Amino acid sequence: METDKNKCPLCGENALITNSQDYFGDFISCNNCGKIIITDDAFNLVKKKFNENKFYACLYYYIQHFRKNGKVYLIVEKIEETNDKYFQLSIDEIMNLYPNSISEKIDMILLNISSLLKNPGFCCTLNEINTNNLFFTQNEREAYFLAETMEKESKFIKLEGTVSNHFNNIELTYKGWTRVDELKKDIKKYKKGFIAMWFNENMEPIRNAIKDVFVETGYQISIIDEKEHNNQIVQEILHEIETSDFIVADLTGNRGGVYYEAGYALGLGKEVILIVDNNWLEKNKENPHFDVAQKNQIRYISIDDLSVRLFNRITSTVGNLINPNSPLKSLKTNDE
Ligand SMILES: [Zn+2]
Repeated sequence: METDKNKCPLCGENALITNSQDYFGDFISCNNCGKIIITDDAFNLVKKKFNENKFYACLYYYIQHFRKNGKVYLIVEKIEETNDKYFQLSIDEIMNLYPNSISEKIDMILLNISSLLKNPGFCCTLNEINTNNLFFTQNEREAYFLAETMEKESKFIKLEGTVSNHFNNIELTYKGWTRVDELKKDIKKYKKGFIAMWFNENMEPIRNAIKDVFVETGYQISIIDEKEHNNQIVQEILHEIETSDFIVADLTGNRGGVYYEAGYALGLGKEVILIVDNNWLEKNKENPHFDVAQKNQIRYISIDDLSVRLFNRITSTVGNLINPNSPLKSLKTNDE
């Protein structure tokens, strides 16, 4: 990586940057951002397919807002297996955070500034690296343009400083803090759905059907392959749920773990979509637990039935990211 070896590429403060002991790549240790390994493969992918500045800005945003305490971040090209030692993040997961519109960008900048300031009345001074990451920009002029827009047009911030001395002093207005409160309440930031289900080879086709619906509606798939449920994995599961917009819990098999995960998500205020294989219920003379009896469930009778109903449910409750105005899928006829 071609960066100043003493400066954190995310916040611009002094940091220790060395080679990682476990991977080919850089190990960054920063008091603000924590410990991060960026593998060479991941960084090459960024350079080839994306853009370094955008990558650092998205990673900065992730670390500011979804920081997972304790573990070292491991930034990889693609997550291939679970890793107990590190908290893995894939390039796609990070790049997905990049704002899609100017208004989304301004909201994200506002959240970035608010997390730097911490409390109303505080102000901060920015450095060059910090500025570009915070504003999702390539240079200070571009950042200054956005900052001016946020000051003069949306009146979210107050700036002091001139063009040559841009960000000496930056603070949020009352209007800005109010907007931050609003955004914190319901910002759709994860673009990810979690699947909780029985891991059993008979469930494989169901699992694939759910994954396909996630792809069709634009969500990343978070699913943790069941190994032994030791503490490490549970930690990871909880974190995955915390950083998902919604969860699809398949109650087939009446597995305790699935109910636990659904309950955790519900407690966090996430949208929980309960589904269950009706054929399995009938064959085994089972019912979902009575605690969820009053909650709407998709009792699917076939894979096609599941695909259509799940697509419609996600589109109408959490939103379709690919096509926000997507009409609901019409039910297929049985002529296949
Ligand atoms: Zn840092």
